[in-house]
Amino acid sequence: MCRHAAWLGPSRSLSSLIFEPDQGLLRQAYAPRMQRFGSVNADGFGLGWYDPSLPEPVRYRRSIPIWADANLPGIAGVARSSCLMAAVRSATVGMPIEESATAPFAAGIWLLSHNGRVRTEAVRPLAPGAESACDSAWLASAVFARLREGIPLARALPLVVRGAAEADPAARLNLLVCGGMELAATAWGDTLYAHLGEGVLVASEPLDDRPGWQAVPDRNLLLASPDGVLVTPID
Ligand code: GLN
Repeated sequence: MCRHAAWLGPSRSLSSLIFEPDQGLLRQAYAPRMQRFGSVNADGFGLGWYDPSLPEPVRYRRSIPIWADANLPGIAGVARSSCLMAAVRSATVGMPIEESATAPFAAGIWLLSHNGRVRTEAVRPLAPGAESACDSAWLASAVFARLREGIPLARALPLVVRGAAEADPAARLNLLVCGGMELAATAWGDTLYAHLGEGVLVASEPLDDRPGWQAVPDRNLLLASPDGVLVTPID
């Protein structure tokens, strides 16, 4: 299982997901506290953020451990946005270790990350193609295809999760999607937490020991927008 995190709220830096919190993604890369599959997330990392001067989000993906990129603290300190995503990866056995297999995956305004695993044969029929043979890349493509058709995020994510789970009942499908003004995450087989304050923080596991982190129940969808946060069962 990889670990991912996102923020929607007043503008802040990517460091607020990675370096500043005690249990930020830097620490979760080598000492996650709730990870059930895999023990370190050293197979790559990725960041995505929205700059108001650009039509699409900016991404930075590497296939090296997050702690091995000496340039990252500088970049993460100045990359600021009201919508942020970051992920660290523990590649599933058999999956390629390359930038194109590393979240966030992107299409237009959308960014997507996946914690879990699914048989790629179970997702291929749902997606037009993928940038990598990695299962997560196929899942991203399946979600993006529905978003391109104009299906709202709140319906597109459950559609793909249900479709993939039907074809592979053992699949673990924690997905996280950002669109700049909205954010959605599924809990399906792995932990998911949210912290509400002046914005919403969503993460595979809490980024710190502050009170207020709430577990999202398994098989639920979390939707966040400037109007608030909603958690609803997927099936
Ligand atoms: N299956 C995905 C991959 O190989 C995600 C792995 C994970 O969540 N650890 O990258």
